[in-house]
Amino acid sequence: MTYDYDLFVIGAGSGGLAASKRAASYGAKVAIAEGDLVGGTCVIRGCVPKKLMVYASSFSHLYKDAVGYGWSEVESSFDWTKLVETVDQEVHRLSQLHIGYLEKAGVELISGFAKFVDAHTVEVGERKITADKILIAVGGEAIKPDIPGIENTITSREIFLLKEYPKRMAVMGGGYIGTEFACIMNGLGTKVSQIIRRDYILRGFDQDIRVDIQEGMIKHGIDIISETIVEKIEETPEGLQLTLKGKEETTLTVDTILCAMGRKPNLTGLGLENAGVEVTKGAIAVSPNSRTSQGNIFAVGDCTNRINLTPVAIAEGRAFADTEFGNNPRAISHKNVPSAVFSQPEAATVGLTEEEAKAQFGDSIKCYKAKFRPMFYSLTGADEKTTVKLVVESHTDRVLGVHLVGKDSAEMIQGIAIAVNMGATKKDFDATIGIHPSSAEEIVTLR
Ligand code: NDP
Repeated sequence: MTYDYDLFVIGAGSGGLAASKRAASYGAKVAIAEGDLVGGTCVIRGCVPKKLMVYASSFSHLYKDAVGYGWSEVESSFDWTKLVETVDQEVHRLSQLHIGYLEKAGVELISGFAKFVDAHTVEVGERKITADKILIAVGGEAIKPDIPGIENTITSREIFLLKEYPKRMAVMGGGYIGTEFACIMNGLGTKVSQIIRRDYILRGFDQDIRVDIQEGMIKHGIDIISETIVEKIEETPEGLQLTLKGKEETTLTVDTILCAMGRKPNLTGLGLENAGVEVTKGAIAVSPNSRTSQGNIFAVGDCTNRINLTPVAIAEGRAFADTEFGNNPRAISHKNVPSAVFSQPEAATVGLTEEEAKAQFGDSIKCYKAKFRPMFYSLTGADEKTTVKLVVESHTDRVLGVHLVGKDSAEMIQGIAIAVNMGATKKDFDATIGIHPSSAEEIVTLR
C-alpha cells in the first residue's frame, strides 16, 4: 500500500511542529495541517503573548522601585490598545517564522482542519489525504462551566484581543491561567477580584508556596475571594454582575470576566471514531511512547492530557519522531518536569511537594526553608519576599523537590531541575558554592 505521506500531523502547535520537523530530518515525507495560525496555543494565545503581557505589567512595580534608587517619580500612562496591537504583531511575526522553519525542514503545510475518514485517511476541506502514520497534536481548549450568564465571560483565548481596557475585572479560577492573568491585569492597573473555590490558589502546588504567592498577590492589591463560587452572571447598566455564593455571599460588578476554570483536549470534529482511536476521560489514550489504540496513529501534547506544558509536548513530539522515523526508540520521562507560574510574585517548582513526599516517604521527609527580602528591595521599601524550600528524604539525603517564590524563580529553577533529575543529595547542594550576592545562593546554604 502506498500513501501520500509517511507522516501526516494534525495541528501545528508546539508538539506537531517539533515532531514534523524531526521526522522530516530523517527523510520522511511529512505534511502538517493547521486550521488556525501556525504556532498553536503557546505561540498564538498562550505562553508567548502571556509572557509579553507579564513584562508589560511589571513596569508599574519597577517605576515605584526606581524611586528608592534615586530616580525621580515616573509619571506614565498605559495604552492597552497599543499593547494588544504590538503583542499581536509579534505573535504574527513568530507564526510566520514557524512557517519558514517548516519550509526549510521540507514539511508541507496544509491549511484547514483535518478530520479522520479512516485510520490512514484524513480529509481537509475537499481534499482526501492518506498517510502511513498520523500524529494528532491538536492541543486543548478552555472549559466554561454551566453557570447562568457564562456567555458573558471571556477565556484566555479572547483576552489577548480584548478591545477595551477593563477597569474592573473578575477572574474565575485559581489555576495557572487565572493566577497569571489576575497578576498581569493588576499590574496594568485593573482592579482585579479573583474568585476561587478553595482556601488557596494553585491546588497541587506545595502548600507553603501557595500561601506565599497568595499573600504576595494580596499585598499587590488583588482581592482574592476564597472558598466562594459564582452562582450567576447578569448584565446590568453598571457592568457585569456576579452573584457569589460561599464564604462571601455578595455581588460584584465588573467590566470583564475571565473564565479560567481549566482546559480540555480539543477533540471536537476530529472524527476519532472513524479511525478507531480510543478516548479516556476526554483525552486521547496513549502508551508511554504516544501510540494510540490504533497502531499507526499517535498523539502528543495537551490532547493526551498528560502534563499540559509546551516543553513536554515538544519532547513527546521529538521522541515520537526519533522512535518511528529515526531508528532511536525512546519515551520521555514525565517525572521532575519543572514549571513556573508567571505570577507576581513569580513561582517555580520541580519535583515533589512536601505533601506528596510525605505521602510516599512518611516521616523521613525533612524540609528546609528560608523566606527573606531579596537585596533588590532593600532600597525600595517594597514588602517583597522570596521563599526557597527544599524537600529532602533523610535516609538517602536526596532532594525530591525544590519550590521557589519570588523574583527570578523561573530562571533559577531550570538549572536546579537538572540536579534534582540527576538525583542530587542535600550534601551535593551544600557542597556547591553560592553566588554572592544573589537569591539563588540561599538554595545551597539552607540549614
Ligand atoms: P487549571 O486546571 O490549572 O485551573 C483551573 C481552576 O479552575 C482551578 O483553580 C479549579 O479549582 C477551578 N475550577 C474548575 N472548575 C471549577 C468550578 N466548577 N467551580 C469553581 N472553580 C473551578 O486550569 P488553567 O485553565 O488555569 O490552566 C490549564 C493548563 O494550562 C494548566 O494545567 C497548565 O498545564 C497550563 N498552563 C501552564 C502555564 C505555565 O506553565 N506557566 C500557564 C498557563 C497554563 P480546583 O483547583 O479547586 O479544582
